[in-house]
This record gives sequence, C-alpha cells and structure tokens, in this order.
Amino acid sequence: MITKLRKRYYCEHCGKGGGSAGHMRRHERTCTANPDRECEMCQHTELGHHEIPMAELVAMLPTKSDFAEIQYHEWYDIGGLPVDLEVNVTSRLAYPGLEEAVKQVMDALREAVGNCPACILAALRQADLCDQISSETFDYKREKKDLWDNVNDAESAWQDANKVIL
Ligand SMILES: [Zn+2]
Ligand SMILES: [Zn+2]
Repeated sequence: MITKLRKRYYCEHCGKGGGSAGHMRRHERTCTANPDRECEMCQHTELGHHEIPMAELVAMLPTKSDFAEIQYHEWYDIGGLPVDLEVNVTSRLAYPGLEEAVKQVMDALREAVGNCPACILAALRQADLCDQISSETFDYKREKKDLWDNVNDAESAWQDANKVIL
C-alpha cells in the first residue's frame, strides 16, 4: 500500500482551501476578504480601476453595531405539524434598517469603485454585511455576468471595427 500525504493550502483571509499553492496564492491576492486585495476584475475590464484603499470603502458603509439586533427564527413544518425542536429552527441575527442604510450609500460606493462588482462585494464582505443584504440591494452574480457580457460585446465590436480597417 502506498500512502501519500498531500499539502493543502488555505487562504489567510477567508479560509478557502486548495491543493495547489499557485492557485491559492492567486486566490489570496485577489480574495474579497483580503484588505490589501488586488482586483483582477478591475484589471481585466479596465472599467473600474480605482485607487481607494479598502479601509476607506468599508468606512463608507454602515456597521451592524449602529443597529439593534433582533433574532429571527424560521420554523420548519414537518408533516404538517409545527415542530419547534432546535434542529428544525434556523436563527439569524437581523438589524432592522441596516439594509436600507446600505442602499443609501450604494450609489456612492459604486462610484468610488467604478461600479466593479468584485470591489463592491469585497467592501460589503469586509464590512461584514453580506448576510444582511438581499439581491435587490446588490446581486454579485448578475452584475458580474452583465459586466462580462458588456466586455465581450465591446471586444467583439472592437474586433468588427478592426476588421473594417484592416
Ligand atoms: Zn480567500
Ligand atoms: Zn474591482
């Protein structure tokens, strides 16, 4: 029998693990939880390149500690009977008014990062707000898709334009 121990590498910022040091190094450099992150999305698209440090972006956002917390319980119904066993309950903390306060600064945040979805996500994540906002306030997946669709459109338009010139 052959036993092999393989190294695993973990992101210092978010704890994500992987088997490749190179991949994890790249992830760590751009990780949305990294306060000194480089933004590949900004670099690739050249749409949102900005020089504002993450700490300043985070400071634009409201904090949970400014809002009173309440506990939410979601009760799951099993076989038509309401069950209040702990295992069937999920609780999360909610902060009334917090999402509304985030919404109010979203335009300023968007402007500060040139509307880059990864930079917006990083600021929200580092402000510990990701569990408090709905897709109505910010939908990373949709915005990222829209951005790449635009970039691809722009690239094909550029290629078409060049075909005419060449
Ligand atoms: Zn990470
Ligand atoms: Zn960015």
